[in-house]
Amino acid sequence: MDTLKPLFDDPTLLKAPIIIAGPCSAESRTQLLDTAKSLSDIGVRIVRAGVWKPRTKPGSFEGAGEIALEWLAEAKEATGILTATEVATPAHVAAAVAAEVDLLWIGARTSANPFAVQEIADAISRTGRDIPVLVKNPVNPDIELWIGALQRLYTAGTRRLGAIHRGFSAYGHHTYRNIPQWHIPFELRRRYPTLPLLADPSHIGGRRDLIAPLSQQALDIGFDGLIIESHCDPDRALSDAAQQVTPAQLKEILDGICHRDGSFSKTSEIQFLRQQIDALDTEMLELLAKRMEISRRIGQYKKDNNIPIIQTERYADMLQSRINLGKEIGIPGDFISSLFSLIHEESVRLQVNTDSTQPGAAPSSDH
Ligand code: PEP
Ligand code: MN
Repeated sequence: MDTLKPLFDDPTLLKAPIIIAGPCSAESRTQLLDTAKSLSDIGVRIVRAGVWKPRTKPGSFEGAGEIALEWLAEAKEATGILTATEVATPAHVAAAVAAEVDLLWIGARTSANPFAVQEIADAISRTGRDIPVLVKNPVNPDIELWIGALQRLYTAGTRRLGAIHRGFSAYGHHTYRNIPQWHIPFELRRRYPTLPLLADPSHIGGRRDLIAPLSQQALDIGFDGLIIESHCDPDRALSDAAQQVTPAQLKEILDGICHRDGSFSKTSEIQFLRQQIDALDTEMLELLAKRMEISRRIGQYKKDNNIPIIQTERYADMLQSRINLGKEIGIPGDFISSLFSLIHEESVRLQVNTDSTQPGAAPSSDH
């Protein structure tokens, strides 16, 4: 990917940071026009809106479909704002390009599928247009799959190419809707330094209050821009309501973040390493909380089923298996013993509390 073109010829559209904002989904003509007008008023030059929504489960709002392309065209006509939408099939590409959409993106569920990406890449090539395309990272943290998707587009002729980091899914509940794993986009930047890279703090965070800190973090480590979900009436949004902000709130966020002209190369290594430590500590604590919850449930189960609490061998076996694992992955045994003795102590305390109706009950050995 060494002969990339800028995303747009107009340099004013590339002024850092590039901001793309708009509703998760185009829901109605008025919703889209109101939102686009307010975004244009605060200086946003590119509006995003999902016309076709890939939903995890059937039955949720799947987008207004092709009619919404007319609303996007109307928004452009009324305000001069450029338009962007997600494409997931060749038919989407043909319809969006025919409706003069200015930028396409490929969503995280699609970029994980090489067949789909290839079909989209070929469809874009058939339009004969030099349209900019942004590729979101696949839902799973696989940088090669992400790069593969970018390469498919490049090989099919797309030169106005960029990437969007939207975080990675993980099972269970976490602070972030999609865990950032910043080292993955960092590695993408290392391999393709000229590829524009935008962050999507809305889908990473999944919560309004996380947009500002995530945006700042992304700009600090040298992202070229942000794609942020903004809706004229976020609480009533038909998709992703919790993570959308009004255009006025977006203005506050954008005014509050500071673009320090960071660059991946200027970012000191220690700053980047510290970010990784912070992220790992967050994950570690979230895992511990999950473990404690399970421990509590074991305590409850024993109480409900009158199961004797003391199983003396269990702790010794568990500890030994953790020490063995530690050996394999380079963590010293005495450290593991101290760590698990603390965790065990807390588990016991939780189970004793669960068991407080049994006077004098001995602590559990399930940890
Ligand atoms: C979106 O941008 O609304 C969207 C569906 O995002 P993702 O593909 O990142 O989940
Ligand atoms: Mn969304």
